[in-house]
Parts: sequence; C-alpha cells; structure tokens
Amino acid sequence: MKAAILAVILSCSAHSRAATPAPAKESPAPHELEAVQKQAAGKLELGAAKKESLPREILWVRDSVEYAKACVQAFRWGGQAVEKASRRQKGDWAVVLDVDETVLSNLQYQIELGGKPYDPQSWDAWVRRKEGVPIPGAREFLDRVRSLEGGHVVFITDRRSSQEEATIENLGALGLFKDGDLLLGKIDKADTKEARRRCVEQGKRGQNPRCQARSPMPIIALFGDSFRDFEEKYEAQAYAARSDEDARWGGRFFVIPNPLYGQWERGYK
Ligand SMILES: [Mg+2]
Repeated sequence: MKAAILAVILSCSAHSRAATPAPAKESPAPHELEAVQKQAAGKLELGAAKKESLPREILWVRDSVEYAKACVQAFRWGGQAVEKASRRQKGDWAVVLDVDETVLSNLQYQIELGGKPYDPQSWDAWVRRKEGVPIPGAREFLDRVRSLEGGHVVFITDRRSSQEEATIENLGALGLFKDGDLLLGKIDKADTKEARRRCVEQGKRGQNPRCQARSPMPIIALFGDSFRDFEEKYEAQAYAARSDEDARWGGRFFVIPNPLYGQWERGYK
C-alpha cells in the first residue's frame, strides 16, 4: 500500500515538473537579499567608488580591501614582534599607540569636512560625538598585548587633555580601551609625544605626575600613522629618515597607512 502511494506521488511530481514551465529564478539567499535591498535603497557600498565624487583618499580608506589588510598586516606583524620582544623583558613593559587613524578611524569627520581645512571647533564637536570606529586589526592586537606577561597598553595622542574623557569613552565602547590602559592627551605645546614617551619610561622614577602611579616601563613597540608617533624630528631630519636602512621600522615601529592628512602635507614643519 505504502509503495503504491509513493508511486502515485512520484508520478504526480514527475508529471507536474514536466508540465510546468521552468521555474522562475530561485529567491536570493538571505545575504543576497540583503545586498539587493541595500542596492534598492541606494546603500550598497560595493562599487560605490565609481559613482561618488568623494576624494580618492577617502574612497581608498572607506572602500578598498587593500587599506583594511595593510592595517591588519601591521597589527599582526607587530603582534609577533611584540610577543618575541616581551620574552626578553622582566617586569612591566609597554606598547605605545597613537589614537587617531592608528586605532580609531575618523573617516566620517573627514567626509563631513568636505574638503574644508581641519579646524579645532569642528574637531572638538566630532570628538565629543564619540563616533570614531576601530581601525582593522587594532582590537585583536591590543588584546594580545594585554594577555602577555607584563604587557601594558599606552595611548599617546595629540587630542587635548580636555578631550581625554570623551576619547576613553569612545575607545572603551569599542573594546579598544580597557582597565589598566593609560591614555595621555596633550596638555600644552611643551608636552610633546617625546616628553610623554619619557613619562611612560620613567614612571614613578620621573617627575611627571601623570605617570607616577606606574612602574617605569620600557617601550618595546610604537604604532602610529604619523612620523612623530615614533620620533620627534622635523623638516630635513624627517626627510632624511626616509632611508630604508633603519631596522626599527617593521621591528619596533609599525606604521598604519593614513592618506587623509599628516605632516607630509606641510613638509614635516
Ligand atoms: Mg594619528
């Protein structure tokens, strides 16, 4: 009986397939559907570079795979170097990172500037919006540093010290700033990144009250998008540093690409 019913079902099914015209294209899979919906709503970003009039550097950062992977590459390679160097350390040590365009992307601010020059008022308003997003690979790298024996994360940024709270909130919400991390904003002109690197290295042995709750920490790696995230050099000295021979680049210094802005625009003045 069961066999007979099955035969009838199969026969009907075969008949219906033969008699019905070829079915319409199957419904898109959920991810395809999402792409179709985005496209219909004008929100699909793939291929957007062709249609938009944004500057090429903004499109490269926003849309290219190469930008994202260059960042990931620097952080992964840096992570390996840090892990290796950490084995030679006894006690606490630090990795120092810049914030803007190193761990936190402000691409939206650049888009909103619309080609107008940077100005402190619009920048401050942006900082207080706390809408920066992570640079690819940064979060994994920072977690790797914190997981290593003696490892500490220190951010040295030229955001003003009055912007530290908003910056930490923005970073914290993204999992980029965690308990035990230190962030040093800029107090005044004399408070160069070099001065703050010394503050970290000297810790409680130094004179700077901002680092006196900390042990002295050798800095075993630096990450930044700007030359002065690594060394305080100007003009001719900075140009001279373009030589390929300095082994610290890719060994202790790791650059995150930033084609949007930088000292290079003004000749490293
Ligand atoms: Mg920067």
